[in-house]
Amino acid sequence: MNSTPLVGILGGTFDPIHSGHLAMASFAHSQLALSKVLLVPAGSPWQRQPRAAAKDRLQMTRLAAMGHPFIEVDTREIERLTPTYTIDTLEELRQQYASDQRFCLILGTDAFLNLPTWKEWTRILELTHIAVLCRPGFDFVENQLPIPLRPVWSERHCTPEHLTGREGQIVRLDMPPVPVSSTQIRHALAHSLPCPEGLLPSSVWNYIDSHHLYRSA
Ligand code: ATP
Repeated sequence: MNSTPLVGILGGTFDPIHSGHLAMASFAHSQLALSKVLLVPAGSPWQRQPRAAAKDRLQMTRLAAMGHPFIEVDTREIERLTPTYTIDTLEELRQQYASDQRFCLILGTDAFLNLPTWKEWTRILELTHIAVLCRPGFDFVENQLPIPLRPVWSERHCTPEHLTGREGQIVRLDMPPVPVSSTQIRHALAHSLPCPEGLLPSSVWNYIDSHHLYRSA
């Protein structure tokens, strides 16, 4: 058993960052007593092409983190010149922190269901725990998980109280639903549709507006 507080890692394209991401960071922080949450904007995500430049996504992430003392913005994936793989980030963090440091990778349900497509995905659990947070529109049904995830889930899932090892466990957190996605925000902006209030922090909204981001489809 290891009682070192966990460091949360929340990676994303953050194109743009929104209230769902901030809710995930806060919920995981409170439910798992995390010492902090690292927000890690992806540099060149290998599965997609972001709409906004890395420097803009980073700046929006920094603005969103303001006023949340437990959040730290980690720029390593933006600075890396090669395609972004989570496994590389985890390896680097393992090198950087003390050997008994415990990490928890925070994923939405959709990202967790997609995990078997990630580079060296089984090794990810040799470096960190995983917390899966509910996301509206993506049901987590234990007996309908993608086949490669089934044994991993059944052997490794636990309750937050039992997340006591250094790595390798999976916990599911019932976050109250936050129905928002970056796609929805980009779509609203590109089509001059009203963007419902509360989907993203006003500082991020002001940045998008003043830098004319996401104006075309
Ligand atoms: P896009 O719509 O462009 O695909 P996104 O809204 O899914 O973007 P990402 O930056 O791709 O945002 O997501 C980063 C992480 O946040 C992923 O693990 C994703 O599952 C999770 N996530 C994003 N939005 C939510 C939400 N509303 N509720 C729960 N998890 C979320």
